[in-house]
Order: sequence, then C-alpha cells, then structure tokens
Amino acid sequence: MSEKPCIITVAITGSVATRADNPAVPITVSEQVESTQAAFEAGATLAHCHVRNDDGSPSSDPERFGRLLEGLRRHCPGMIVQFSTGGRSGSGRERGGMLPLAPDMASLSTGSCNFPTRVYENSPELIDWLAAGMREHGVKPEVEAFDLSMIFKAVEMAADGRIVGPLHVQFVMGVKNAMPVDRESFVFFAETLRRLVPDATWTGAGIGRHQDTLVRWSLELGGHCRTGLEDNVRLDKTTLAPSNAALVERVVALCPEYGRRPATAGEARALLGLAGAA
Ligand code: ZN
Repeated sequence: MSEKPCIITVAITGSVATRADNPAVPITVSEQVESTQAAFEAGATLAHCHVRNDDGSPSSDPERFGRLLEGLRRHCPGMIVQFSTGGRSGSGRERGGMLPLAPDMASLSTGSCNFPTRVYENSPELIDWLAAGMREHGVKPEVEAFDLSMIFKAVEMAADGRIVGPLHVQFVMGVKNAMPVDRESFVFFAETLRRLVPDATWTGAGIGRHQDTLVRWSLELGGHCRTGLEDNVRLDKTTLAPSNAALVERVVALCPEYGRRPATAGEARALLGLAGAA
C-alpha cells in the first residue's frame, strides 16, 4: 500500500464530559474496556486514558488504572495504551502515581497555560519529576503542546535526555483560553517541530466542534490524528456521537481523501519507536 499510515488516537473518557453530555461516555473500567475495544476494531491504535470514580468524578487511583491496563491488554492486543498525567485527575505528583504500572505511553505537558475556568499548572519541577518517572518505568511521553513554548521545552528536554526519543508531540487547539484553532499557527507548529527535530512525530487534537478540522489538517500535513469522546461528544450540531468507535470511523473515512490509511497496531508501534513494532 502506498498510502502513508496514520495513527488514530482515541481519547475515550477524559475527566470533563459527563453522561448528561452524552450517555456513551464510558465511566467504569469495564465500560472503558468495552468502548476501547470497539474503537480498536474500528481502526484506532492508541488509547488515551483517564479513569473515573463510579460517580463519574475524576480519579487518579493507580488501582483503577491497573485494571484498565489489564483489560485493554487482554481485549485490544497490540493497542498502545497511554495514561493521562493531565491536571484534572489529581494535583501535583498524584498525577504520576500510576507510572509504575508501565503503560506504553503517558501524556506530559511541558508548560502551563489557561484552561476554560482555571490555570493548567505544570511547574518546571513537576514536569521534570513526571519525565523522570517515565524514564524510570520505560514509558514514552506524548508531549501535550498547548502553545509554542511547550514545543520548544520538549525539544530542549529531548536534546538533554530528559525525554527519551524519538520525540512525539501533540498539538492541542480549541481549548478555551489556550490556543484557538488557527491554520497558520498549526502549520507553523508542525514546521517548527520538523525543523528542530526532523525525526519527531506529531498528532493534532481539536477540541469540540474543531475535532474534524484538526483531523483534516493532520492528515493533510502528514501528522497523526486524535478523536474520541474526551474532546468532542457530537457528530454534528444536532447529533450526539453514539460511541467512541463512531468517531474513529469518521477519521477512517477521511483518510483516503488525503492519501492516508489507518496504521495497524504494529505499524503504530514502529512509527513511535515502541516495543512490539511490526
Ligand atoms: Zn486527556
């Protein structure tokens, strides 16, 4: 096949969307495993995971993360499992308490910014501590870049060994009070990363109604894609997405327009330099 493979990330749950927003948001571990398996079968090869308490509130409980990891390894063979160390699921070092479980990847924000109603705080000390935990447990970071300075910080950390390469960065746009969805900025992010770290890989993540826009730009510019109910619960203005799998199917359907196809799990691992590569 000549089409360039695209890693489709499915962000299944997050910590904000509720059952009231969309009844398909998976909350319990067994719901999460079931929803991820359907998304995997639809073409997603990377699961970005948060855990929740049974009442839906955000959790940072390593025991829950452990059960989720076990379920995903059993039901989604080869799928890349990424845990979120994002700030909505706990505070300070609580956010990295599950790293000893050694998922394939974990998210790592390399700077602070504003979120819709609060400051998303990532002190230099916390960033270094989380990165050290990832190195210790063989977890590959996905850098979450909410602005340009976070890309430069990631490049610096990859150069001095705090992040073990190859570097993988996600550009996030559409979070209120952070970067808006702006085509020129997006292109500049991708070109800047390519200029500084030619072998780096990247993913575009658009929040809410911007999800499809960033999927299209990422497919076009040679990046990878993220979808899922964490970022967006709708298919369009009037229709709720019936599942994570439905959002993945939408990305799969767009791939051919850009000469792309969904990567297999083995290809996704090869592209990211992870064990189990095809
Ligand atoms: Zn997340």
